[in-house]
Amino acid sequence: MGKLSGCAHLVPSPDADTAVMPATALLRPRSASPPRVWWADALAALAGLGLGITLALAISAESAGALRSPGGITTALGRLTGLVGAYGLLIVLLLAARLPAIERVVGQNRVIGWHRLLAPWTLVLIAAHGVLIAVGYAQAAGIHPARQLSILILSYPWVLAATVGFVLLVAAGVSSYRIARRRLSHETWWVVHLYTYLALALAFAHQIITGASFVGHPVARAWWIALWLGAIGAVLTHRIGQPALRSLRHRLRVIAVERDAPGVVTVILEGRDLDRLPLAGGQFAQWRFLTRERWWQAHPYSLSSLPRGDHIRITVKDLGDHSGGLASLRPGTRVALEGPYGNFTRHACRGDRLLLVGAGVGAAVLPALLEDLPEDTDVVVINRASTTADLVLREEITSLVSARGGALIELTGSRSDVRLDADRLRRLVPDIAGRDVYVCGPDELASSLLRSAAEAGVAHERLHHEAFSL
Ligand SMILES: Cc1cc2nc3c(=O)[nH]c(=O)nc-3n(C[C@H](O)[C@H](O)[C@H](O)COP(=O)(O)OP(=O)(O)OC[C@H]3O[C@@H](n4cnc5c(N)ncnc54)[C@H](O)[C@@H]3O)c2cc1C
Repeated sequence: MGKLSGCAHLVPSPDADTAVMPATALLRPRSASPPRVWWADALAALAGLGLGITLALAISAESAGALRSPGGITTALGRLTGLVGAYGLLIVLLLAARLPAIERVVGQNRVIGWHRLLAPWTLVLIAAHGVLIAVGYAQAAGIHPARQLSILILSYPWVLAATVGFVLLVAAGVSSYRIARRRLSHETWWVVHLYTYLALALAFAHQIITGASFVGHPVARAWWIALWLGAIGAVLTHRIGQPALRSLRHRLRVIAVERDAPGVVTVILEGRDLDRLPLAGGQFAQWRFLTRERWWQAHPYSLSSLPRGDHIRITVKDLGDHSGGLASLRPGTRVALEGPYGNFTRHACRGDRLLLVGAGVGAAVLPALLEDLPEDTDVVVINRASTTADLVLREEITSLVSARGGALIELTGSRSDVRLDADRLRRLVPDIAGRDVYVCGPDELASSLLRSAAEAGVAHERLHHEAFSL
């Protein structure tokens, strides 16, 4: 492994495990099957096809006479931008629906990234729709566009409601900008996002009741209704129905809370049929602890081990109200679960040599990943923290790495002392360029480490990252 400096050391293997979970070596836990990439490809193709059909129906609803009349082309463009914007909104909605077929293949980080990328463009298209329709109608009526806009909003059925919906969507967009997001609590941001469902309902009523592409065009109308029903069905199924069924089936409850590193606790849960959870090491779930204060909040935490018999667990650092409150959970507290989610799993791996890096509480995912890797995988693990006492799940990670004959490097010290640039990585892991690199930790550290790994020769598709923030 090369020469290591003062704050980094290769670790021998103690024998260790948690008190409540059965010992690692005794039981090989069950893991989920690989995600089906073709499902995600098929859904992407369907999204493209849907856009094509929508455009074709919208264009066929226009007549040559209407296009030649004053303002005809502007109005037609207004209808088209409105429809494409509304179709984009449906895709944005589906990207937030946590569809397992997409989520398990590309991971939540990327799906949410696409959601964030597409959402502002749909708002631009919808704003353009309002402006173009006002200008087109104004040209036909021979009045000023601003006056036409106020007539549209105040006198046309469902236009005021759609305008309110648009303002709600803009509020959700603004609340998601990084600067605003940092100032808002997660709960405020979430409530603002809940209003987007009301906004979508208002927009839909406006489209179907007054939209020129649908009124008098039964095929287009049936297509549009089917699209919206399908999208809402997908959201209800995956955000409410499936989590409710899973929670009822597995009947999870807290059985113990154990202290790990300072400010870090492991919550051990007991449930039924846990071998039926389609779970791979490295995944996370949204957890809802059903106490009077917490039942309405679901927070994402990664599994810190694969299910063992009736037991499952998470390891959490106190970073705020929710995470900090888990230390005081009482045994017997019921827990609802949404997920599992994420593609930070062995299925994303391109080879049989890995470097796993866990920084701070990011190391909590390492045991589950280690348990899930095929036996012949060659593993190097870096566990990074400010001090030795802060190394999360230290003994367990040490014994899991040693059980599979891997190498463990513990790196402690301040950020300025422990710089993981490309040279340092090459010294610590000389064959890093031939490994898949998995990094889980604070955003800043993870991004700089991934950059260093790329500089050290790791191919882009072999870099894997789980962000502990969205
Ligand atoms: C995929 C994923 C896996 C995670 N796994 C773990 C884990 O195994 N162990 C662990 O300790 N932490 C994990 N986290 C982080 C954990 O979700 C947050 O620390 C926790 O939700 C903070 O909530 P809070 O009320 O305690 O603090 P707050 O003060 O509300 O938030 C602290 C920080 O966490 C972010 N955050 C808050 N709520 C959420 C939420 N519902 N979704 C996403 N980000 C949120 C905030 O934006 C802020 O940056 C994970 C996060 C994600 C996205």
